[in-house]
Amino acid sequence: RAKAQGAGQLLWYGAELEASTREHMSLLQAFTEAPRLGQLYMAYQPQWSLHSGEIIGFEALMRWRTADGRHVSPDAFIPVAESSGLIIETGRWALITALQAVGQLRRAGLQGFHMAVNVSVMQFQAPGFVDMVQQALAQTGVGAEALELEITESVAMAGAQQVLQILASLKAMGVGIAIDDFGTGYSSLSYLHQLPADRLKIDRAFVSCLGSGERSAQIAEMVLPLGRQIGMKVLAEGVETSEQARLLAALGCDEAQGYLFAKPMPLSELLEWIKVRPSMEKLR
Ligand code: C2E
Ligand code: MG
Ligand code: MG
Ligand code: MG
Repeated sequence: RAKAQGAGQLLWYGAELEASTREHMSLLQAFTEAPRLGQLYMAYQPQWSLHSGEIIGFEALMRWRTADGRHVSPDAFIPVAESSGLIIETGRWALITALQAVGQLRRAGLQGFHMAVNVSVMQFQAPGFVDMVQQALAQTGVGAEALELEITESVAMAGAQQVLQILASLKAMGVGIAIDDFGTGYSSLSYLHQLPADRLKIDRAFVSCLGSGERSAQIAEMVLPLGRQIGMKVLAEGVETSEQARLLAALGCDEAQGYLFAKPMPLSELLEWIKVRPSMEKLR
C-alpha cells in the first residue's frame, strides 16, 4: 500500500513537474520575442512623503502585454527572464527607459524626484553591472542622484562582501539604494547596519495587516524606529486604505506608495496625471 502510494505520488509529481516545465518553456519562448514585438513597457507608480505630502519619486515597474492583449504579471515573467539570463538585456532596457522617463517628467515641469528601478540578483551580480549603470546614466543625460536602485532584502543579504563592494561603487557614483520587500527575508541587524542604503521599503504584507491586531502588524511598528536609528528613510509599500496611511504616519513612517494614492501608470498616462498633481491632503 505504502509502495503503491509512493509510486502514485511519484507519477503525480512527475506530471505536475512536466506541466510546470511546459508552462515555463512556453512562457520563456513568448518572453524571448516580447522585446522585439514591442510588448514590453514600463509603468510608474508615484511615491509620497507622509511628512510633506509631496511626490518624492516613482517606482518603475515592467509590464508585458502579450499579442492577445493580456498582461502577464512580473511575478510570473521576471523569474523566467532571470532563469534564462534574458533579464540582463531586458533589465538594461528597463533602466534606460526609466531614465528617459525622468527627462520627460522634468520637461513636464516636475523637479526633485527620484526614479526607482528594480534590479534582480542576476543583474546585480553580473560582471560589469556598475559600468552598465554608468553608461545608462551617461547615455540618457540623467544625473546619478535621480536614480535609485531597488534590491530585495535577500539580494542585499546574499554574498556579503561582493554585494557590499557593488553597493559601495554605486553609492560613490551618487546612485541611491533601496532595500525592497523588507521584512520578508532574514536580515542580520549588524549587516543591515553596514549597508549603504538610503531607504527601507516595508513589504506590503506588513502594511496590509496594520490595524488588524495581528502579530505581523507589529513588524511595521518595529521597522520604523530601526530605520530611523540606522539613518534610512522608511517607505511603506502597498498602502491601500486611508486607515493604513493614518497609522503609518502616526508611527512616524516617512513615505508611502500604494493604490490609495496612485496605481502604476504608463508614461503617457502619468504625464497627464501629474498635471493635476493631487496632493496627499486631498487623498486623506
Ligand atoms: P516590487 O518591486 O515589490 O513592486 C511592488 C509591487 O506592488 C508591484 O507589483 C506594484 O504594482 C504592487 N503594488 C503597488 N501598490 C500596491 C497596492 O496598493 N496594492 C497591491 N495589491 N499591490 C500594489 P508588480 O508591478 O506586479 O511587480 C511585482 C514584482 O515584480 C516587483 O515587486 C518586482 O520584484 C518585480 N519587478 C517588476 N518590474 C521589474 C523590473 O523592471 N525588473 C525587475 N528585476 N523586477 C521587476
Ligand atoms: Mg520594488
Ligand atoms: Mg517590494
Ligand atoms: Mg515584490
